[in-house]
Amino acid sequence: MTDLEQKELMVQLGRSFYERGYSVGGAGNLSVRLDENRVLVTPTGSSLGRLKVERLSVLDMDGNVLEGDKPSKESVFHLEMYRKNPKCNAIVHLHCTYLTALSCLQGLDPTNAMKAFTPYYVMRVGKMQVIPYYRPGSPEIARELSERALSGKAFLLANHGVVVTGADLLDASDNTEELEETAKLFFTLQGQKIRYLTDDEVKDLENRGK
Ligand SMILES: [Zn+2]
Repeated sequence: MTDLEQKELMVQLGRSFYERGYSVGGAGNLSVRLDENRVLVTPTGSSLGRLKVERLSVLDMDGNVLEGDKPSKESVFHLEMYRKNPKCNAIVHLHCTYLTALSCLQGLDPTNAMKAFTPYYVMRVGKMQVIPYYRPGSPEIARELSERALSGKAFLLANHGVVVTGADLLDASDNTEELEETAKLFFTLQGQKIRYLTDDEVKDLENRGK
C-alpha cells in the first residue's frame, strides 16, 4: 500500500468507528507502520469522525514529526509497541463503551480480562491482559505495553479503554470490533450462568490458529 492509500484507509476507518459510536469527541487514536522507519498516527485532539488525509501525522521511530499535525499524546505507547514487536503493524486504541466499562471493574484477572465464552475471541486475540491505571499519555502506560508487546495482541487499560494490534489496519480494526462485541455479550449475560469454553476447547482453537 502507498502512503496515500494508508492515509485514506485511516480516515475511512476513523469515520466508520465514529459513526457507529465506537468513538466520541476527541477520544481514541489509530496508527499504522508505513515502513521500517515511519509510523502514521492520528493527530492530537482530533475526532476520529473528522480526520483529514493531509493532517495525519507521520513520525519517525524516535517520535519526530515528518509530516502533518502534532501527533496524539498517546502516540508514545504506539511507538514503543512498534519498536518492541516487529510483527505489530497497526494499533487501534479506543474508549469504546463496553470494553471501557469492563476496564472499570474491580478484580479483573490481569492475565486475561475476559474468560473465553465464544470461539471468535480466542481465534482473533486469544487473551486480553490488563494494564494498571495510569494517567492517559503517561510514560508508564508505554512501558507496561512495551513489556507485554510480544505476549499478546489486545490490552485493556484499567479505567481507560483498549489497545488492539494487528497485521494491518483492517486486521486491528476487526480484532477491536470482535472484542467490543464480546464485551457487549459479557454485560448482556450478567446475572445469567455463562458456560465458558473449557480449557480443552480453548486449546483446540489455539492449535488450529497455529
Ligand atoms: Zn485513551
